[in-house]
Amino acid sequence: MKVLIAGGAGYIGSHCVKIMTEQGYDVIVVDNLSTGHREAVKEKLYVGDIRNQAFLDELFQKEKIEAVIHFCAKSLVGVSMTEPLEYFDNNVSGTMVLLQAMAKANVKKIVFSSSAAVYGDHEEMPITEEYLTNPTNPYGETKLMMEKMMKWAEIAHGFKYVSLRYFNVAGAYTDGSIGEDHQPETHLIPIVLQTALGKRDHITVYGNDYNTADGTCVRDYIHVIDLIDAHIRALNYLSSGNISEIFNLGSEDGYSVLEIIEAARAVTGINIKQEIGPRRAGDPAKLIASSEKIGRVLGWKPKFGIKEIIRDAWSFHKKHPEGY
Ligand code: NAD
Ligand code: UDP
Repeated sequence: MKVLIAGGAGYIGSHCVKIMTEQGYDVIVVDNLSTGHREAVKEKLYVGDIRNQAFLDELFQKEKIEAVIHFCAKSLVGVSMTEPLEYFDNNVSGTMVLLQAMAKANVKKIVFSSSAAVYGDHEEMPITEEYLTNPTNPYGETKLMMEKMMKWAEIAHGFKYVSLRYFNVAGAYTDGSIGEDHQPETHLIPIVLQTALGKRDHITVYGNDYNTADGTCVRDYIHVIDLIDAHIRALNYLSSGNISEIFNLGSEDGYSVLEIIEAARAVTGINIKQEIGPRRAGDPAKLIASSEKIGRVLGWKPKFGIKEIIRDAWSFHKKHPEGY
């Protein structure tokens, strides 16, 4: 099956490209390299923007694509608060143009990245797919709009989609050849490991006065390899003629910021320095996914725990101390 991976030069997309290629899928990549890396992709890469209809039309004519996995997005919550229109332009318009090109080319299956950010703040954990969606930032709003666009495109044009609402993605391909390299980096685990490498003096813990066991925020971390396994299952699910669905993608386990730093000390053997700082705006205290639905429908369950997540991310960081 020939699959177009949109955003395949990015952190998660490049893992999808590598793993699907190993599994015998015929994969091609589109990426504008705005946050992706040419070095992360060995397969056929078309450099271009998914908002460019002519570029996509030509691509769909040239390549006999049967399905799309869509990772393209701007995804920094803080920047989305100050530059919301850039986010709507890239994430929402980009998805709209991609769907238009797919409809023209009669390609109707799509798996795409949504986010826990569609839920906003909730007290009761774990979060199921039935929880109210109420994003607290423009980034989450763009993901919710993408889901809604898919729903109406299904009714009008017969698209079938799977939306995967990721919780916190981390880790790297086990040999450390590819991994997470964002500029600037905002995610906890890479920042902790950059501190272990001596690239940063300390890790700042964003607040220790939350209503959690140790006062720091709790998140549900999932290994990028487990995440890609879910995408492949979703693709096969659609190829078997199943209905469109939305799934949470998390492990049902929560770790606090302090627990992550401690786990990284254990994995690296380095005494990573920490300092307590103020809260980061917009951070909910706790985000833990229910993964009951994806387990039941796609037969998915995570194989890796927090130790393996940090071990594999560490292997990437040691091999690429300056990034790609
Ligand atoms: P990333 O920035 O590393 O990857 C996104 C890729 O898409 C990049 O290679 C970028 O160059 C490309 N891209 C962006 N806009 C494009 C456009 N208009 N045209 C063509 N290419 C474009 O991000 P990531 O961490 O790999 O995330 C992948 C997806 O997963 C995103 O949609 C993100 O919102 C979602 N997500 C990520 C996390 C996480 O923890 N990393 C959590 C929830 C959701
Ligand atoms: N965090 C932190 N220091 C950092 C980066 C992140 O304390 O330098 C915290 C952040 O406040 C959140 C958790 O780590 O509670 C995970 O943050 P990340 O940005 O990795 O993912 P998010 O949950 O925001 O998507």
